Amino acid sequence: MLLNPLTFHAPTSLSEAVRLMAELEHVRLHAGGTFLLNQLKLLKRNGARTPDHVITLQHIAELRGISLDRDGLRIGAMTTIAEIFDHPLVAEHLPVLKTVCRNISTQPIRNMATIGGNLTCRYTWTEMPAVSLGLRASLHFVDTAMNETAVDPQEFFAGQAKTDKLLTAVRFPLIADRRCAYRRAKKSQFVDIPMLSLIISAGRGKASLEDCRVAVNNCVEFAQRDAALEEFLNTTPAGPDLPAAALDHLTGEIYAKRGSDYKTHLFRLYLREAIEELINDE
Ligand SMILES: Cc1cc2nc3c(=O)[nH]c(=O)nc-3n(C[C@H](O)[C@H](O)[C@H](O)COP(=O)(O)OP(=O)(O)OC[C@H]3O[C@@H](n4cnc5c(N)ncnc54)[C@H](O)[C@@H]3O)c2cc1C
Repeated sequence: MLLNPLTFHAPTSLSEAVRLMAELEHVRLHAGGTFLLNQLKLLKRNGARTPDHVITLQHIAELRGISLDRDGLRIGAMTTIAEIFDHPLVAEHLPVLKTVCRNISTQPIRNMATIGGNLTCRYTWTEMPAVSLGLRASLHFVDTAMNETAVDPQEFFAGQAKTDKLLTAVRFPLIADRRCAYRRAKKSQFVDIPMLSLIISAGRGKASLEDCRVAVNNCVEFAQRDAALEEFLNTTPAGPDLPAAALDHLTGEIYAKRGSDYKTHLFRLYLREAIEELINDE
């Protein structure tokens, strides 16, 4: 299907992209294009209005790449899932991100899809939202006046990931002696979108896990934290009984949301496994 006519803009700097966003009306941003092009076809097929302008971020070097500074890892919004997977700084400092990237779709999609597109596309099931929450990342946006803001993913996803700004980068703080466990399940044995994902990160206290973050994506709603489970893990001795006992301290509605018995079972299994992994990780 041919797209409806539109004007395609290819700025080579962030300031130029932002100027275009300010000047033009009925605009969409293009990152990897893995969702966007399909969305434009769907809009046309449904007889809905399609954008008059598409601004691609593909030629803006400052939106790409991974670097390390005293605030942690900075990943430019246009960095692809494949680039994150392959990057030595990720392998050294945040290997859980490598695991997440390896499981996303297929190599051709990973070569195109960007972390920025994954976070801002507003599909509830993509995996970087829970990861950004679980790893205490901050999302960095610019508005059409080039003002920069850092947004907590908790706030962003509680607001249904709505934004009229441009995401420039994601920052992951590197906190000493922190462990992470990630789990996800897909609906079928084939390449498929996830039906659930979760990440738990924690420091190691004398007797218990401490400063835990539990981020859960039931893939029906946007990723969210399980505050009841965090509280339990932070205050209960980290003995061999902890993983099983933790299952009595979940925020039930997150897991029950349009869930099946199978999905509930997988959630409980993966939460227990993830907690076991954290307490056994010396
Ligand atoms: C077949 C298939 C399987 C997939 N499987 C998985 C999976 O298993 N797990 C998973 O997590 N994801 C999966 N994805 C999603 C994929 O990882 C990408 O995140 C997603 O396709 C969008 O990324 P993109 O860079 O292509 O964004 P685009 O399609 O270019 O854009 C998507 C939306 O985000 C907006 N946007 C993009 N970048 C910015 C920015 N910097 N600032 C503001 N707005 C922006 C665009 O305007 C657009 O509305 C899958 C996708 C496909 C097509």
